[in-house]
Amino acid sequence: MSSHEEVSRGWERLATLLIRAGRDENLPAEGKFVNPPVTRGSTVLFPDLASLNAQGMKRYDHEAIYGAMGTPVQHVLERAVALVEGGEDTQIVSSGLSACTTALLTFTASGGHVLIPDSAYGPTRRFTDTMLRRFGVETTYYPPCVSVAEMERLIRPETQVIFAESPGSHTFEIQDIPALSDLAHRHGALLILDNTWGFGIFEPFRHGVDVSVQALTKYAAGHSDAIIGALTVADKTLWKRLRDAAIQLGQLAGPDECWLTLRGLRTMSVRLARQSCSALDVARWLADRPEVERVLHPALPDFPGYELWKRDFNGAGPLFSVVLKERYSRKSMENMLDSLHLFGIGASWGGFESLVLPTTGSVSRTATEAPVQATFRLNIGLESVRDLCGDLEQGFSALNGS
Ligand SMILES: *Cc1c(COP(=O)(O)O)cnc(C)c1O
Repeated sequence: MSSHEEVSRGWERLATLLIRAGRDENLPAEGKFVNPPVTRGSTVLFPDLASLNAQGMKRYDHEAIYGAMGTPVQHVLERAVALVEGGEDTQIVSSGLSACTTALLTFTASGGHVLIPDSAYGPTRRFTDTMLRRFGVETTYYPPCVSVAEMERLIRPETQVIFAESPGSHTFEIQDIPALSDLAHRHGALLILDNTWGFGIFEPFRHGVDVSVQALTKYAAGHSDAIIGALTVADKTLWKRLRDAAIQLGQLAGPDECWLTLRGLRTMSVRLARQSCSALDVARWLADRPEVERVLHPALPDFPGYELWKRDFNGAGPLFSVVLKERYSRKSMENMLDSLHLFGIGASWGGFESLVLPTTGSVSRTATEAPVQATFRLNIGLESVRDLCGDLEQGFSALNGS
């Protein structure tokens, strides 16, 4: 049985790092304040043409030729995210989705092939099915809990990228990242991981990942007030390719989004330690309910991915799913979700407030079976566990009454 200590230790471990991360480096001269300034700027002025020409395409705004290369607050955030992920360097982009698409655009080429887990974030699937295909890159979906032998059959000479997302969106399959990394590298491909759930509690580069993508919108921003993403890479060669691509694609995030995200990052370990403990409590409470068939939470010992989670993760997140008993229809589940007061109905997760979304009917799967039984996903926020369980309890009354 997982303890609070097991789900929150990774968050505790980050506590000190998050306070200083990125602050000491490359601060502009006025950087006596604790936080970097929000610099809203496009044009950077130079005293003369010689200084402009000497500047070239340097990265940061106190050195940069143009605001699109990034402002100081973006740079501080990039250094902080690189430290949390444990990678070489980080590029901030405008959203989590754009982190996924930028990674795929950067590391594939026409005539290539990518392997995408069937449980990938829906908009990532849509991108590979439409735009990436239009550019001549083929996609094969693989079962997220695939064996190495089966992956050997799916991989092709032209496979450029194995994409992973662990745990999977809505269904929480934990993937064997070291095994996928070994396979990708033996076949000359890169392993890209959507590490959004694992941000801070899964160390991608220690497990053989080449590129880690993040929706910082979730834990780092943490307050449902900003959309922002990041890509972090394992080494300098990948960094050069990524940075070139980001400049070509015009990737950046606005200084206000960067500032909000940096502010969120400073308190991420306390918020997420509390949320991960509450989520475990609510998950256990739900698992004991007669209406519930199973709870899809990686830290529950009867969850199929539990052993891999225990081996590879330093903690758990606030997001998991609940499968109701077969006798409950999707319609009766919807009545239950509509009756909840403390769980907002809405997309996204990782923020301070609890949220709910139906899984059944809203996720697409082509290599595995999509959930057919009534299933919903919960983001556990900072409310009290007692209040949240009380709200779910009255939700079950609505479920049984309908
Ligand atoms: C939310 C999410 C994204 C996209 O992030 P946005 O910032 O909302 O674009 C990507 N991947 C996963 C796993 C997500 O949950």
